[in-house]
Amino acid sequence: MAFSSLHLDDALLRAVAQRAYLTPTAIQQAVIPLILQGSDVIASAQTGSGKTAAFCLPILHNFLKNPVSTPKKASVLILVPTRELATQVGETMRSLAQYLARPIKLAVLFGGVSLNPQMLHLRGGADIVIATPGRLLDLVSKNAVSLAAVTTLVLDEADRLLELGFADELAQLLALLPSQRQQLLFSATFPAALDVLTERLTEGRTTAPVRVEVAATATGKPDIVQRAIVVDTANRTQLLRHLIETQKWDRVLVFAASRYTAELVAVKLRKARIAAEPFHGELSQGKRTQVLADFKASRVKVVVATDVAARGLDISQLPAVINYDLPRSSDDYTHRIGRTARAGASGIAISFISTGNEAHFRLIENRHGITLEREHIAGFEPADTPALPEPAAGGGIKGKKPNKKDKLRALAALKSAD
Ligand code: AMP
Repeated sequence: MAFSSLHLDDALLRAVAQRAYLTPTAIQQAVIPLILQGSDVIASAQTGSGKTAAFCLPILHNFLKNPVSTPKKASVLILVPTRELATQVGETMRSLAQYLARPIKLAVLFGGVSLNPQMLHLRGGADIVIATPGRLLDLVSKNAVSLAAVTTLVLDEADRLLELGFADELAQLLALLPSQRQQLLFSATFPAALDVLTERLTEGRTTAPVRVEVAATATGKPDIVQRAIVVDTANRTQLLRHLIETQKWDRVLVFAASRYTAELVAVKLRKARIAAEPFHGELSQGKRTQVLADFKASRVKVVVATDVAARGLDISQLPAVINYDLPRSSDDYTHRIGRTARAGASGIAISFISTGNEAHFRLIENRHGITLEREHIAGFEPADTPALPEPAAGGGIKGKKPNKKDKLRALAALKSAD
């Protein structure tokens, strides 16, 4: 199928060609016609499936064809879980809208940065608002933006919106929207908590939403090779270094369970002259943007991230994702490995397995209906005894579990040795 058969405005086809999208992805083929005809949609879509363009293109087309009576009165609202995703959706929307005959004003709103520039930007209104729920509510309460004219609502990565605790904010925002609206919900997973939200969205509607699930076909399913390597907990950083040095990946995204581990692993890699940066929720927005830009430009080779921070990162053609620590849930496993093999490219996802987390990994495998061969890498074979907790770097007291102060001290020592 070609993009031209989707009946999109020529200006949008031009933008699609400019982004070098050759054919629509499976999710785009499925949902673009539905959105164009005004249906409500609940779509199961993985990150990397091309879901952003799947809603941006028809929204822009509809916007163009149905001039709104109240320009700059936010007729489209896109809610996203994180600032990074807000930025990425904003970039995609802006790029796809660049050749439109009618200029469109976008507002991208997220927390963690000062309110004032966003309030200034909203003066005179905006046609399309892309926002995280908390910051949007702040701005609404200050009368900086009105949602009374919204005709299209998108909930992007709805599972993550709930996981991050935005249920109350979503309820408050829904109450501010006109009841006549088109609703589009995208989610990688459908946990029970999401049923409550979808029920709320469909309450009192005359027509049911169209549910779209893109089958895992050769073209729809990302081409991800999954591997599991058994290694003692204490040897993971060495193994990581070995893999980075031998596998010749140009960029690697490593997942750690905590901010502390993300920092520590990045510091250790840097000491081995590997350009590595941590990426977690406690970094300033400026630092995060910088790391992301450096990673995209390949100035940074390895990003060591926590789940929340990494959610929504769009780094095209990431060759490898490594679970240094296993994710807590099998849904997080899906999200993590979805960072590689984006939009048709192939990729590899490696999980480090130790005696202590073997049972947990088996649960993840069961949930996904897979069984991975447990690999041993020469020089990193696990000892027979159960893995011991990783000793505090920089020397803790032997036999004593490092407390927060020990950890911070160790980190400071490593950083100053950099
Ligand atoms: P998303 O799932 O929206 O995060 O998109 C994943 C990546 O695929 C992004 O880098 C998009 O720019 C890219 N992409 C989206 N649609 C297409 C397409 N039809 N062909 C090739 N790449 C695409």
